[in-house]
Amino acid sequence: MAKLCVTCGARLSKDRAEVKDYCTAQACFAANYRPLRLVEIGQTKTNAEIEILDDRVQRDLAEGRYRRDPIVVTRQASRTFERPKVTFKPFTAPPVDAVKARYVQSLQAQGCTVEDILGRAKRDAPRLRLTRTEVVRYMTGRRI
Ligand SMILES: [Zn+2]
Repeated sequence: MAKLCVTCGARLSKDRAEVKDYCTAQACFAANYRPLRLVEIGQTKTNAEIEILDDRVQRDLAEGRYRRDPIVVTRQASRTFERPKVTFKPFTAPPVDAVKARYVQSLQAQGCTVEDILGRAKRDAPRLRLTRTEVVRYMTGRRI
């Protein structure tokens, strides 16, 4: 038999019924949502261990399974999102240098790699001052 929402009586899906007893309608969610209580257990030389504070964990805590004093924290859903306070200007690529682009693309057409092109440019056309970034950009960009 299908489970029903405890607040509005709507039929719950099989998956939903396994985890909650209320539906996802905003009013039912607001009426029934309870934040998870977590316990943060400090560790030596590593990150804290975080457990959901349920009966098992409470029993373990009482029995002294955790050597250090745990801190109980309540996790709550964030209701607002932080927006960056600065505005970023849109990225603009530097203009294409047609001479460099043709040089790179003609060598690429001959089967040269980035390293080959950089080596040949340094040897044969030093005044082009090709950078690795430019070579990659012209090899992967639009054909000139
Ligand atoms: Zn409901």
